[in-house]
Amino acid sequence: MKIETIAIHAGNHTDSSTKAVIQPIVMSTTFERDIDGGYASGYSYSRANNPNRSALENVLAKLENGVDAVAFSSGNAAGMAVFQSLSPGTHIIAPDDMYHGLRNQLKNLFKGILEFDFIDINNTGVLKAHIKSNTGLIWIETPSNPLLKITEIRKITTIAAQKNIKVVCDNTFASPICQQPLALGADIVMHSSTKYFGGHSDLTGGVLVTGNDNDWWQKIRQVQSMGGAIPSPTDCYYLTRSIKTLPYRMRGHMHNAQLLAEYLEKHPTVEKVLYPGLPSHPQHQAASEQMTGFGAMISFCVKGGAEKARDVTNKVKVFTRATSLGGVESLIEHRASVEGPDTTTPQNLIRVSVGLEHIDDLIADIQAALA
Ligand SMILES: *Cc1c(COP(=O)(O)O)cnc(C)c1O
Repeated sequence: MKIETIAIHAGNHTDSSTKAVIQPIVMSTTFERDIDGGYASGYSYSRANNPNRSALENVLAKLENGVDAVAFSSGNAAGMAVFQSLSPGTHIIAPDDMYHGLRNQLKNLFKGILEFDFIDINNTGVLKAHIKSNTGLIWIETPSNPLLKITEIRKITTIAAQKNIKVVCDNTFASPICQQPLALGADIVMHSSTKYFGGHSDLTGGVLVTGNDNDWWQKIRQVQSMGGAIPSPTDCYYLTRSIKTLPYRMRGHMHNAQLLAEYLEKHPTVEKVLYPGLPSHPQHQAASEQMTGFGAMISFCVKGGAEKARDVTNKVKVFTRATSLGGVESLIEHRASVEGPDTTTPQNLIRVSVGLEHIDDLIADIQAALA
């Protein structure tokens, strides 16, 4: 079936007892046992599993064309489950512009437990030079945050496969509507479902989807059920509900993003625009080959440094001055000040999450703020 149909049906079960068309939220933490001690429903205790979580995991696995998915209470918890599933001493190679929350997690919580190198992952020579005998994982994120750099997934997974190294791809910026990394050889796809899956800036969640059910995956499932960083039944319900409109929301987001990027590129106050959907993007060709859409995150640099960038974010009225992405409302931020003092993000860079307002209103708002 096509992705629009999967999004609507794969996460929903008509309730057999009430015939409710929409699956109810099951709040019960515990489930009645049979006389013989078994669990007829397959559910025993809500940390281990819950019907709303099963429904969510089912639709997530199908959206990414995987065989199984696990849902977590945040994107960072999903990333952490991957790191916790690795044997101590495993070496990880990650991009130097990895999502800062996960980079800080590795540096602060896994120091002395795992080894890691943050490198220019798109430079094949540099990547090969960093592979060691204990390298077990290559982490990629594409498009990257906030520079919208493209990593050629197939190129990385081919190198990794030759050395028996696993590849995890953070697919948060693209969503499965724009990119499906498992089909390009990645072992596991990671998402912050706080972003496009949730889509309304009102819940926090994380996801892993696998292409193979193997020992490694079973370890990750154990981290979920034994570690306990699970999403609530209500959060699972809202995510399943939001996912039904994901394909159509992404179309709207991308339509607006393309037009806004094209507008910004022509503006005299704008130094450069970073959006993979623009032919001027240095990796537009690579993006076109591995993506079915270019997402809706735009970064742009203004003439006039940090002061001008902050001025623009202060003047907008339709855009909201806030971090995060993927919601129906457009967000704008001066990225360097969000990332803190050790940031390498240019001081004149503004990051935009393009929402679903009318494009004419978004352009008019930016035009006034840039003037
Ligand atoms: C937000 C985000 C995360 C972390 O997810 P949380 O839900 O905030 O824990 C990871 N990767 C990317 C690319 C993100 O945008």
